[in-house]
Amino acid sequence: VEGVDEVRVALMADKVQRQIIAVGSGKGGVGKSTLTTNLAVALANQGVKVGVVDADIYGPSQPLLLGTANEKVRAEGQTLIPTESEFGVKVLSMGQLIEPGKAIAWRGPMVGQALAQLMDADWGDTELLIVDLPPGTGDVQLTMLQKFKPAGAVVVSTPQDLALIDATRAIDLFKQAQVPIVGLVENMAGYLCPECGAISNPFGQGGTEAAAQALGVPFLGRIPLAMEIRVASDTGQPPAANDTEHGPHFAGIAAGLAD
Ligand code: ADP
Repeated sequence: VEGVDEVRVALMADKVQRQIIAVGSGKGGVGKSTLTTNLAVALANQGVKVGVVDADIYGPSQPLLLGTANEKVRAEGQTLIPTESEFGVKVLSMGQLIEPGKAIAWRGPMVGQALAQLMDADWGDTELLIVDLPPGTGDVQLTMLQKFKPAGAVVVSTPQDLALIDATRAIDLFKQAQVPIVGLVENMAGYLCPECGAISNPFGQGGTEAAAQALGVPFLGRIPLAMEIRVASDTGQPPAANDTEHGPHFAGIAAGLAD
C-alpha cells in the first residue's frame, strides 16, 4: 500500500509542477502554430523545460516547424514518448497519430482519446506544456478545457477586424471555462519591404492592442510580417532558435510568459 501511495503522491506532484498553456486563435492561418513553436524554443533558451502538444487536427504542423517530421513516434505500451527536437523542445502531434496525407473525420470521442494520448504521454521532467489548439471553438478546445484545464491561454490574431472578431470568440470560450487569458499577441503586423525599405500594413495596424484594451486582457506584443519568418519556419529552423532579426520578438513575449 505504501508503494501505491508513493506513486500517487508522485503523480500529484507531477500534476502540480507541470503547467499547461494553450495557444488559440479565432481563425486559421494567423500564425498560431508559428508562435507556439517560437515561444517554446524561446522558453527553452530561457531555461524552461518545454514540451509542445500539437492538437491542431486541421493542420498539424509542429513536427515540420520543429524539424522532427522525419522522426517516428515511439511508444512504451500505450504511452507515447515525445520526440526531442534539436532546440531542446519535446513534441507530440495529432499528425503523428494519423496517416500522412489522409483526411481525418474526427468525432468527439476520438478527439478526446487522441488528445489524452498526447497529453498523458511520457513528458518526464517537462515543466511547461504548450498546446497548439486548432483555430476556432470546436471539439478539441472543449475537450482540452474540460479534461486538461490550462493554467492560461495565449490568443493570436492579425490586426485585421475579421480575425479580431474571431479572436474575441476564442477569448470568450476560455473565459467561460475560467481559464485566465495570459494575453493577446498581434502577428503579421507591419511589413518591411526588402526592396524599398517602406513599411506597409497589409492586415491593418494596432488593432490587436486596441482589442486587448477593450477586452481588458494584457497585450503581449507584436510580430512583424516577414519573409524570413516564413522561410525559416518552413525549413524547420524556428527564428527564435537562431540569432535572427526576429528572434527577440518571440523572446520578449516568452519572457512575459515565464513570469
Ligand atoms: P495557424 O497556426 O494560425 O494556422 P501558421 O503558424 O501555420 O498559422 O502560419 C500560417 C502561414 O503564415 C505559415 O506559412 C507561416 O510560415 C506564415 N507566417 C506566420 N507568421 C508569420 C509572420 N509573422 N511573417 C511571415 N509569415 C508568417
